[in-house]
Amino acid sequence: MSINWQTLLVDSVYFLAAILFILGLKKMCSPVTARGGIVWAGVGMILATLVTFLHPHIGSNFGLMGIAIMIGTLPTWWFAKRVAMTDMPQMIAIYNGMGGGAAATIAAVELMRVTTGHALPVTVQTLAVLGAIIGSISFSGSIIAFAKLQGLIKKSFIFPNQQIFNLLILLIVLALGAFVVVQGASVTMIIIISFFVLALVFGILMTLPIGGADMPVVISLFNAMTGLAVAFEGFVLGNAAMIIAGTVVGAAGTLLTQLMAKAMNRSLGNVLFSGFGAAEGQEATGEGVEGSLKPIEAADAAIMMAYAEQVIIIPGYGLAVAQAQHKIWELTKALTERGVRVKFAIHPVAGRMPGHMNVLLAEAGVPYDIISDLDEINEEFEQTDVALVIGANDVVNPIARTDPSSPIYGMPILNADKAKNTIVIKRGRGTGFSGIENYLFYADNTRMLYGDGQKMAAELLQEAKSLG
Ligand code: NDP
Repeated sequence: MSINWQTLLVDSVYFLAAILFILGLKKMCSPVTARGGIVWAGVGMILATLVTFLHPHIGSNFGLMGIAIMIGTLPTWWFAKRVAMTDMPQMIAIYNGMGGGAAATIAAVELMRVTTGHALPVTVQTLAVLGAIIGSISFSGSIIAFAKLQGLIKKSFIFPNQQIFNLLILLIVLALGAFVVVQGASVTMIIIISFFVLALVFGILMTLPIGGADMPVVISLFNAMTGLAVAFEGFVLGNAAMIIAGTVVGAAGTLLTQLMAKAMNRSLGNVLFSGFGAAEGQEATGEGVEGSLKPIEAADAAIMMAYAEQVIIIPGYGLAVAQAQHKIWELTKALTERGVRVKFAIHPVAGRMPGHMNVLLAEAGVPYDIISDLDEINEEFEQTDVALVIGANDVVNPIARTDPSSPIYGMPILNADKAKNTIVIKRGRGTGFSGIENYLFYADNTRMLYGDGQKMAAELLQEAKSLG
């Protein structure tokens, strides 16, 4: 038996790349090792891409591959270098959509080859069709998600019987897909084109009604779908690296989608079909809430914190908008020098993307050992002198515990209301993502420090330092 050394080399490097993907993903589980994890997975991807030039089926397509790599690498590098942290979700959406589009394009090429007499085994053609559906939906849906997050599409496009209409389109796509498989080599171009066009239309229709603020969950779902589409097309091309990388992305994306929906105490169906989140940014009215909003000056808030034994800082979406992380870290250092114990409490869905707050705090240099998750720190609020809420709203709203009719009912919250004193930094009466009033702001022990997050953090810092 003769060994094909070229195939052996390619498959061995793919295997090595797969190990690097999995180990990289494992390292991404902790903020301490996450950066290394991204490098490991990236090295795996570079190795897999380079060794593909030696793949026996490549033929003489080196030039085309080079051009494709350039198109994929240069603009991506340029945009990724410049993107603001608050714009990260839409960047991920568009890059992720490109993966789905690439998988769908592979399927399109393979299915079109079938019409010119290159028959595929029925199982392979089925996988190509499945990858085509999932990849096309992920591609067009991700573009809509990008446009919504970028503010290019502001409306939510809801019309009567929309779900039934969308379901009908999906059924037609599935029927056309089944027809493509059943027809085998005698399938016509017009059927294949109609199949792709309708799959793309379904991705658009499915995403249009979803509220802009729910997009991160949807992007995570599209991410999982892209992974799956790539894995299916990996089977079609017989490419082990695509199968493994696609499966890893599909599994990780599915878990992340589930975790995000769970942390918001919502089902995925509710995220996809309820139009929730479209009300973000409106003004709270305070109707039906007992108590009053009690403003405080930065000088008084600084005194409360400077003479406290323990302060817990709760960052939220407004911290990201204000880019207040650096000033908050300076404030933390100033308080710590005075002997105050300062900790950070991070809610799993604070901000607008998973790990949003961890990334911002890491960027400012906050050490990981003073950052705690909800489960680790929630018991500590009762012994805490001051909870400083900066730009967070929904994740500290006590109504989540008490009112079954509230959209956030059942969502675990950070127990800021149980601290001895709570100071809330926000600009005015703007609601959070869920669009509802926050009872914490009216509590007896809560004081409102009105202003932009960064400006207020700077004032607190200055006042704390002036205390000597
Ligand atoms: P919220 O969106 O609930 O509240 C943010 C608050 O920040 C607003 O009330 C706003 O009030 C204030 N704010 C905005 N800009 C500034 C600024 N420049 N300076 C100071 N304050 C500012 O944020 P949370 O982090 O508490 O909650 C996140 C929400 O997002 C949750 O409901 C979660 O379910 C949802 N979500 C999270 C995802 C994730 O992956 N993390 C994904 C999808 C949704 P004002 O206008 O008065 O200043």
